[in-house]
Amino acid sequence: MRVRGFAVVHYHEIGLKGRNRSFFEQALVRNLARATGDLGLARPRRLPGRIIIELPEGADRAAVEARLRDVYGAANFSIASGGTLDLESVYEVAWELVRERSFETFAVRARRTQSPFPFSAREINEKLGTVLLERSGKRVNLSAPDLTCHVEIVGDLVFVYAGRTPGAGGLPVGVSGTVVALLSAGIDSPVAAARMMRRGARCVFVHFHSQPFTDASSVRRAGEIAGMLARFQHDVRLFLVPLAPAQQRIVAACPESLRTLLYRRMMVRIASEIAGREGAKALVTGDSLGQVASQTLENLWVVEDAASLPVHRPNLGRDKAEIIAEAQALGTFEVSSAPCQEACVLFEPRRPATKASVAQARAAEESLDLTRLVADSVAASETRTYRFPA
Ligand code: ATP
Ligand code: MG
Repeated sequence: MRVRGFAVVHYHEIGLKGRNRSFFEQALVRNLARATGDLGLARPRRLPGRIIIELPEGADRAAVEARLRDVYGAANFSIASGGTLDLESVYEVAWELVRERSFETFAVRARRTQSPFPFSAREINEKLGTVLLERSGKRVNLSAPDLTCHVEIVGDLVFVYAGRTPGAGGLPVGVSGTVVALLSAGIDSPVAAARMMRRGARCVFVHFHSQPFTDASSVRRAGEIAGMLARFQHDVRLFLVPLAPAQQRIVAACPESLRTLLYRRMMVRIASEIAGREGAKALVTGDSLGQVASQTLENLWVVEDAASLPVHRPNLGRDKAEIIAEAQALGTFEVSSAPCQEACVLFEPRRPATKASVAQARAAEESLDLTRLVADSVAASETRTYRFPA
């Protein structure tokens, strides 16, 4: 058999039935192709129960692994040696893989799917196990081996690999539809957006800035973060919306204690309008219950009242420490925690209301031309696109 390199990608199959499965697999294939698009690999291929990508000779395996790690929907993956089936070659390939590793105990785990191969998975375990035992002089341990040698037989193809790398889990980005994620310059909102991506939602980002009353630091930062999150979504659009004109109207016409909430209501109104244009079905924010005055149960409702779509808050029940740990894992923490001039701090109230009511907020907005403010803000927004790989 001519031995070739492959990436073998597994996903969780629970809940994947009928047409649902095919939809999921196609999305995963598409995202794997995009994630590795610049590495010169073959097109990913669906086989029953897994996706394979053939690696050309000399492919940078570490680069392939780094890319696969960030693809949502993959439960685990491995770099395998494989080709057309024949048992003698499997012995040699497995021995080549195993001999360069250091281990005391090992196990062989064979799986066979829709194959004319004359041996059962159990027979392969025994035969290959015996070969490896004799050549390595190590011990077999089936319950907790140091090293597991996997053999997957699918049709007339065989893949042999040692160990599996955990994937990013979740669902492939795109299978759940589109959401508009409100991206501030803080720590929480990128974490919330990434959570939604991991459940298959494609995020369109919206950032509100108060230029020229603030500098450009929040815009720069939102761009940097959107660029980082493109690692998971491959193609990210960011709307940069000027909030200052609406903020000036709010400052001039509304009670000071409600300012922050009224800014937030403008944000979700404008974001709902953008969502309509983008075909998005929900808004996403980084709110965490009780974190600041605008995130009490009362005030979250006051803000949500102004949205015309559901507002989802994946961080709602999570502590700051948990959110920070996740931001660190995503790689956004450092960028998010440097000082920066944010929109909401503009003319910040000295004593923000912690328990406002929807009626109060609506009454405060009576003298504003909301339709006009929303339309003007959307018209004045700029968009940027971030691609990964570039
Ligand atoms: P973050 O770390 O995400 O900024 P935070 O604790 O600072 O969160 P707030 O500033 O109260 O929280 O904002 C709550 C949420 O409102 C943010 O997570 C974000 O989704 C949205 N938001 C706040 N400011 C902006 C902004 N300038 N542009 C877009 N969305 C924003
Ligand atoms: Mg913030």
